[in-house]
Amino acid sequence: MTVNQNQITDLAKYYEEAMRELGYDSIDSNGANQIGFHKNTITSKNGRRVDTANSFLKMAADRNNLHISINSHVTKIPVKADLPVGQNLQDHIFVPIYFFPNVSWTITEEKLNNIWNLMIYLTTGKGKYPIFSKISRFKFLFLFKFQFQFKFRAVVSGTHLILNHYFSTEDIVLKMAEKNQNGFTVLPALLRPRSTGSITLQSTDPFDPPLIDPQYFTQKEDIDIFLKGVKKTLELGHTKAFKALGINIRDTYIHFPQCKKYDAPSDGYLECYIRHYATHFNHPTSTCRMGHSNDPTAVVDQDLRVKGISNLRVVDASVMRNVVSGNTNAPTIMIAEKAADLIRVELLSQGYVCDRLTSSLRKFYGRYGELVIHYDVPLSRMVDDILS
Ligand SMILES: Cc1cc2nc3c(=O)[nH]c(=O)nc-3n(C[C@H](O)[C@H](O)[C@H](O)COP(=O)(O)OP(=O)(O)OC[C@H]3O[C@@H](n4cnc5c(N)ncnc54)[C@H](O)[C@@H]3O)c2cc1C
Repeated sequence: MTVNQNQITDLAKYYEEAMRELGYDSIDSNGANQIGFHKNTITSKNGRRVDTANSFLKMAADRNNLHISINSHVTKIPVKADLPVGQNLQDHIFVPIYFFPNVSWTITEEKLNNIWNLMIYLTTGKGKYPIFSKISRFKFLFLFKFQFQFKFRAVVSGTHLILNHYFSTEDIVLKMAEKNQNGFTVLPALLRPRSTGSITLQSTDPFDPPLIDPQYFTQKEDIDIFLKGVKKTLELGHTKAFKALGINIRDTYIHFPQCKKYDAPSDGYLECYIRHYATHFNHPTSTCRMGHSNDPTAVVDQDLRVKGISNLRVVDASVMRNVVSGNTNAPTIMIAEKAADLIRVELLSQGYVCDRLTSSLRKFYGRYGELVIHYDVPLSRMVDDILS
């Protein structure tokens, strides 16, 4: 899986300067200090996202000991355990804040969809505006002890698509799209929501879609923190760096129809804007949360085994106890890597070992690995398959 950083406009430079003006420093996002800004790292190759299916699963798909079941639908299962599956739904929530600089070199929908750019991209994987660039340029700022994150998108029109997709607010979308506006978007996002939702069955018909009830902003604290984050975003508009781009903060206070009765940028206006335009980041987690055997909110134990059912593990974003303070893909991959280790150790304790497993266990688990090593040649092939 390739991880990299790509940069396609100079906007990051201005953003960095603006952040410094507000008193923040560049940080290592994986380091001890998380309050500051940094370039985003992305799982991508040649301007496209790289996914786990191609990076991990494809090469193992033909193994005899792996069964992949696609488009599967469970119609009947005897109840083996009554667990709170689907409760505690959490996600990151954001609102787009638009900035309109007086320059012509930012990315617009028109430039993105330009046929030459597209051809260069398709033939070489490069080009000034590769498809992935719509979403590739951000830096993050973590605030209020990991509760807030800003994403930076070097395009306004990308957010039109989001608004169009989620809200069908065509009046606004068309107005902005018509202008084919030069600009960019900062997305303040709530990382640690107090409000939690649920996914439940809506009927006894297994083919009925589930009922997804996110319950966003049902806890007032979420709105209070969000307001602080939005105000911090707006402070960017007053920095010298943003002003050097010709940004006038008044242009940012677009009068969305639902919030006309409030003066921008009063708290009432901002809360109205948040409540109408906030949406999720596609980071749903925590509906099969991990926990102690005595924890009534837990679905899986600390080894990802479903409580009360043998030989069944859940390995995905749903096991997070709470949504993590950052994007969810890498942590989910980490959970899967950990699960692979847990399964190896379990096989080992049952006497399923082989040379390669032995050496990797010695490496990772030291003395514990030594204690449980026994050789069982026929079964070792199975473990070899898992490791290869
Ligand atoms: C549009 C979008 C953009 C995102 N961008 C980012 C990002 O920039 N950075 C980041 O860190 N995270 C991002 N995420 C979140 C990240 O992709 C998820 O957190 C991560 O993929 C979760 O992994 P998972 O294994 O829990 O679920 P998934 O990756 O969703 O895996 C679920 C799997 O189950 C399969 N499946 C579903 N139904 C069935 C069925 N009936 N039968 C058989 N198989 C089935 C699906 O095909 C899928 O392969 C994004 C998500 C979306 C949707």
